[in-house]
Amino acid sequence: MLIKQVWTNNGGRNFFYMVTCPKTAETLAIDPIDAEMCLEIAKNHGWNIKHVLNTHEHGDHIGGNDKVIKETGAKLLGPAKAEGRISGIDEELYDGSIVKIGTSGEFKVLETPGHTPIHISLYGQTDNTPHFLCGDTLFNAGVGHCRSGDPNVLYNTFNNIISDLPDETKIYPGHEYMDNNLAFTLDREPDNPLAADLLKELKNQDLDNARITTLGLERQINTFLRLEQTTIQEGIKKEFPDLPNELDKKTVFLKLRELRNNW
Ligand SMILES: [Zn+2]
Repeated sequence: MLIKQVWTNNGGRNFFYMVTCPKTAETLAIDPIDAEMCLEIAKNHGWNIKHVLNTHEHGDHIGGNDKVIKETGAKLLGPAKAEGRISGIDEELYDGSIVKIGTSGEFKVLETPGHTPIHISLYGQTDNTPHFLCGDTLFNAGVGHCRSGDPNVLYNTFNNIISDLPDETKIYPGHEYMDNNLAFTLDREPDNPLAADLLKELKNQDLDNARITTLGLERQINTFLRLEQTTIQEGIKKEFPDLPNELDKKTVFLKLRELRNNW
């Protein structure tokens, strides 16, 4: 299977994804917010959109569904128990469900709530490279906000699920927020040279060919994946002087999320 990241250039800085089987041209469109763009890409490549999949309920992820489905007759895949949040789901996906891409690939569904109460991500491999299509759970150098979710639940997703994924895993988020997120990392961890170098490197980046990070790199530049770093912990204690001297990872995560909300 081939994974195409599509930069929408919209106000929300959304990415959406098209995953295709080179043998059958069967294609999965994931959160295709820009329906016109999605249909045009499919037409230009001769791809046949058989399924649309939503990671979660937000309008900037489901807003293109109707048009893509109307034009292609695709079936809608979405998280289980999403009635009232996402309409018209033809097939509900559970933790561990398999989504096949033609005859050449498949993803395993992982439940990754926190950004919203119900949220799924996809994990799959091509050759020996793992891929994680994670909606608004994990961003490059950051994590999703929890305005309609719960940061405690998001922490559990990171601590119980994402922590198990290998360093080589390529990351495909729902938005492009890398500059801002790296600036936040540097605000919390000014002595992180890799984050500083990367921020410089991104200055003139072409978002149609945006940098795809790996989880291994995220573990070095994403402050939310570096909860045990002394600089980060000392910074949190300074901002929240009433906290105990020994901080657990969850407290650090929650306080980072709180700081990022107002940053
Ligand atoms: Zn969202």
